Amino acid sequence: MRALCLQSNTPKDLALIDAPAPEPKPNEIRLKVEAVGICGSDVSAALGKPNFDFVKRPRILGHEFSATIDALGENVTGWKVGDPVCAIAIHSCHTCDNCRAGNTQICEERQILGFHMSGAMADFVCVHERYVMPLRYNLNFIEGALVEALAVASRCVLKMCEIKPGHDVIVSGCGIIGLLCALLARAAGGNVTVTGAEWDEEVRLQKARDLGFQTRVVSDENPLSAQLPAPVDRFIEASGAPQALAAASDSVKWGGLIGIIATYGFNVDWTATNIVRREQKIHPCMAAAWDDFEAAMKHLRDGVIPVDDLIETFALDDAIAAFEASFDKSTPKAIMIP
Ligand SMILES: [Zn+2]
Ligand SMILES: [Zn+2]
Repeated sequence: MRALCLQSNTPKDLALIDAPAPEPKPNEIRLKVEAVGICGSDVSAALGKPNFDFVKRPRILGHEFSATIDALGENVTGWKVGDPVCAIAIHSCHTCDNCRAGNTQICEERQILGFHMSGAMADFVCVHERYVMPLRYNLNFIEGALVEALAVASRCVLKMCEIKPGHDVIVSGCGIIGLLCALLARAAGGNVTVTGAEWDEEVRLQKARDLGFQTRVVSDENPLSAQLPAPVDRFIEASGAPQALAAASDSVKWGGLIGIIATYGFNVDWTATNIVRREQKIHPCMAAAWDDFEAAMKHLRDGVIPVDDLIETFALDDAIAAFEASFDKSTPKAIMIP
């Protein structure tokens, strides 16, 4: 089968390889991949960023995908060949306190599909039945490939940041996670402004404006706090730029909330005393659990997300071009079709 492999720690060392199709072990299901997205985390891993040095190479990437069931391993019941599905990206122990509370994404034994094990940028992938999820509401496979990213945004915006109608919201960062957060925050009644850096102005901030958001360009010389008429209720940091998180407190109301959905390649140099004196809440958000995936499918069903405006499709044979478009940020979301 074809598979997109991250070969070494050298930046951009990607290759479309010929790999043996995986055989499902007991309790595993072999999935025929129908659509698979390139995540910002895949890009960071492919660029060799230090926050992804836990990824052992060579590795077949891919954790955002939709599929049809192709073959059932021993002991699998309740599924049939041809069923449309997606899959939970984070595999967990199911016995620790976090797992039992449904927070499988913060299980200390967690393993991530496409980072710790072979992923879905391939014709086939095998996944334990426990992480396979029916693709509901007649969502199509492109929508299905967006469920994971939307689940992450949904967890951050709706569960952690508690956005209420009338809240002024900054979404810092205009990659796909930022745009999905902005769309969900607006659907929840927030007045949303999306920020980016100068190099985002032409493509990604323009996309945000096309989606109807106000935008601001932020730089060291022109910090956000100096541009805003007033501090905001909620600030969602989705850019991964350490300086954006370091400056967030200055743009947020006292008693307001900073949600952090990005991870950072470098330490963040922030003034903790300011956050204490302003009693601002900090809510880190790591990936998503089962109920966030269910919520994401409902958002797609409800038409909150203009999928066609956000994605660009590539054939799996053009995987390298899809990654190139992701590296140079010329597309909000590349989705590959095997
Ligand atoms: Zn992802
Ligand atoms: Zn656990």
